[in-house]
Amino acid sequence: MGKKAWEQYDETQLKQLEVLAKQYRQFLDTGKTERECTREAVRQAEALGYVNLQDILDGRVPMQNKVYAVAMDKTIALFQLGKQPLEQGMQIVAAHIDSPRLDLKQHPLYEEAGMAYFDTHYYGGIKKYQWVTLPLAIHGVVVKKDGSTVELNIGENDDDPVIGVTDLLVHLSGEQLEKKGNKVVEGEALDLLVGNRPLAGEEKDAVKAFILNLLQEQYGMEEDDFISAELEVVPAGKAKDCGLDRSMIMAYGHDDRVCAYAGLAAFLHTEQQEKTVCCLLVDKEEIGSVGATGMKSRFFENTVAELLELTGGYSDLKLRRCLSRSRMLSTDVSAAFDPTYAQAFDKRNSAYLGGGMVMKKFTGSRGKSGANDANAEYIGVLRKVMDDAGVTWQTAELGKVDYGGGGTISYIAARYGMEVIDCGVPVLNMHAPWEVISKADLYEAAKGYHAFLNM
Ligand code: MN
Ligand code: MN
Repeated sequence: MGKKAWEQYDETQLKQLEVLAKQYRQFLDTGKTERECTREAVRQAEALGYVNLQDILDGRVPMQNKVYAVAMDKTIALFQLGKQPLEQGMQIVAAHIDSPRLDLKQHPLYEEAGMAYFDTHYYGGIKKYQWVTLPLAIHGVVVKKDGSTVELNIGENDDDPVIGVTDLLVHLSGEQLEKKGNKVVEGEALDLLVGNRPLAGEEKDAVKAFILNLLQEQYGMEEDDFISAELEVVPAGKAKDCGLDRSMIMAYGHDDRVCAYAGLAAFLHTEQQEKTVCCLLVDKEEIGSVGATGMKSRFFENTVAELLELTGGYSDLKLRRCLSRSRMLSTDVSAAFDPTYAQAFDKRNSAYLGGGMVMKKFTGSRGKSGANDANAEYIGVLRKVMDDAGVTWQTAELGKVDYGGGGTISYIAARYGMEVIDCGVPVLNMHAPWEVISKADLYEAAKGYHAFLNM
């Protein structure tokens, strides 16, 4: 089952697949946080003539049909207006660009036993024991009281230092290894070792003082500036081809940047259609789509309202009609069947690596609770679109009944009354520091998203 997509490719397609995979790896290396992904999406869109909605609203540029809007540097909606009025609805590919990680606390820096540490609070669902003894990097922003912002990116260049979380040596781990998996490494143990060198002339906490001195010299920041910072700690290093046959990619953040990238690429390669096409990349999915930059915020709705106003006049009814007549692919990753842990999966209803793009009628848990249960009629339409476009695709649900579950943004978009289905790429060891996908599934997803936007 798993190799189905690969069996169909000719030389030309294999070349296209490798080009896409390489560009995707570059996207991953450039975008390790939601802010970095948003910036990269803006860069790619502007290169193709997309303009910032705010510049139109402020009168700096005239209205045109390729527009994007950004919220707080962490979420972005891109639109190519169609030939029909916006009120007729949109074709939307939506993905999330936040990924599980360790965030620095507001008072992170302390010294203990001659070593300096950053205290963290993890973000999203992680197996905490996976995040120890790995090279980690810091990405993010520090906003000072004068309003200026300093950007940090430490640990990605070859000559950059890395940081990491220590673990107890196996020789003394008899007691630790008796604990349950979720207690082996606890949340408060995820502190990052960042220094061991004392500042000359300091008596107390001299190692911490050395770090503070360094931050002052290199970034002009004070200890209090951590209070107004968003510093995200992620696995250090680049996305890599995986497998001796190079058929896969191992990287941090496939969930959900693989769908974000495939959706963005499909969107940017779409010519003007009858209907408006849209690519929406949101933040905060991993913690429940909350906050001003998550899918539950009104950012998307407000942006569509502004576009209606610019294209013939806003009314509440037009906005409601536009959203309810829209169709969405909620593009998010699926659990790939893992034969090592076969007991967690229903073999006949699992996604397989190399099996192509995955459509999930529902996610949720315990009797589909919290799921968007996509309409049979909509799936019927999409089956034809995908088959006509030669997309290799499969269907799946997330593991066996009552084994667990997960959520996406689909149920939030569905509140507008639009047709929406989850549709993505299978991932092995999802939410681990290094996740694995098949290049064939990336390629099929990009084809599928393009077919959807062009239907
Ligand atoms: Mn996801
Ligand atoms: Mn996730």
